[in-house]
Amino acid sequence: MKALVYQGPSQKAWQDKPKPEISKPGDAIVRIVHTTICGTDLHILKGDVPAVTPGRTLGHEGLGVIEQIGEGVTHFKPGDRVLISCITSCGRCGYCKKQLYSHCEDGGWILGHLIDGTQAEYVRIPHADNSLYPVPDGADEEALVMLSDILPTGFEIGVLNGQVKPGDSIAIVGAGPIGMATLLTAQFYAPARIIVTDVDASRLEMAKRLGATDLVDASAGDAIEQIMALTGGKGVDVAIEAVGVPATFDVCQEIVGAGGHVANVGVHGKSVELKLEKLWIRNVTITTGLVNTNTTPMLLQTVQAGTIKPGSLVTHRFALDDIGEAYRVFGHAAEEKAMKVILSAR
Ligand code: ZN
Ligand code: ZN
Repeated sequence: MKALVYQGPSQKAWQDKPKPEISKPGDAIVRIVHTTICGTDLHILKGDVPAVTPGRTLGHEGLGVIEQIGEGVTHFKPGDRVLISCITSCGRCGYCKKQLYSHCEDGGWILGHLIDGTQAEYVRIPHADNSLYPVPDGADEEALVMLSDILPTGFEIGVLNGQVKPGDSIAIVGAGPIGMATLLTAQFYAPARIIVTDVDASRLEMAKRLGATDLVDASAGDAIEQIMALTGGKGVDVAIEAVGVPATFDVCQEIVGAGGHVANVGVHGKSVELKLEKLWIRNVTITTGLVNTNTTPMLLQTVQAGTIKPGSLVTHRFALDDIGEAYRVFGHAAEEKAMKVILSAR
C-alpha cells in the first residue's frame, strides 16, 4: 500500500509500505476513505515532535471502512464505515475510567505519532471498540472528518475548559482550524459576543460567516488595544488561545476580564511569560489540555442534526495520492486561502 512516511525533519514521501496487519485481538484494519492534514503534522515535519521517528506514517484524522477485525472486537464488523478518533483508548485503565482518554495507559494520541497513522491507504486501529465511531447512514463524511480531532479539541479544551456561558463575551485568538472549531462549538452556549482575531483577512471573513460578532484584524494594529476598546476596557469573560505562540498567549492574558478564564488550546513549542502578578488579583483561571474526545458522540449528534456544519471548514479537496500537493497547499494556508483540506481515496 501507499503511505505518507516521515523521513526526518522537512522530509516526507508518499511511498510503498507493507499493509498493516492485526497484531492484537482488539485491533481493526481500516481502509481509509477520507483523511486530512493537521497543524500538528506540520509541527512534526519541522522536527518539533521528537517522539516521531523516521519511518512513521503520519496522520491522526480520518474516516474509512473496516476491512478486518481482531477476535476481541465486538462492536464492529468488516464493511462498517467508521470515524477514527485521534485518541486511542482502551476503555479499561484508570485514566479511561475517568474519561481522561488522552492519557490512556495503552493509547492516547498515538496515531501518526507513536504508531503508524491515517495518511495511508490502510491503518491499524488498536482498541477499535473504543477508538472508532460508527458513521451514521447518509452522513456528510467530509464534515465528520472534522470530528476526529479539531471539533472535540476546540470544544473540550476551548469551550468547556473556558466555561463559556450564555451572555458571555468571548475572544478567540487565532482563526485557524482549531479557532474555527471553537467558534462553531462555542455557539452551543449562546455567548453574547464572539470576538475573533487573526492577521489573515480571509480567515476573518470566514469567521464572520461562521458566527463571529466582531472581527479584530491584528495586522491593522495592536489586538489587545482593539479588543479592550471593543469591551469598554473591561476585557472578555473567556479568552481562548488557538495558536500556540507566546504572543497570542500574551494577548489572552491581557484581554481577560475580572473573574474570567483563559483557555489555552494552542500547542506551544516555547515557554510563555506568565503575568501572574497581574492575573491573581483579577481572579483569572487558566486552563490547558490535550483533547480526550469524550464529547465525540455528542458532537456527532449535533453534526447529524445540522446544529453545526463543520463541513464549511473544508476549502480544498485532493485525491489521496495527491497528498504532496495537499501538504504544499495546507503549508501555505494564507496564500492558498486554505482552512482544512480533505484527501479522498479514489
Ligand atoms: Zn489533528
Ligand atoms: Zn485506557
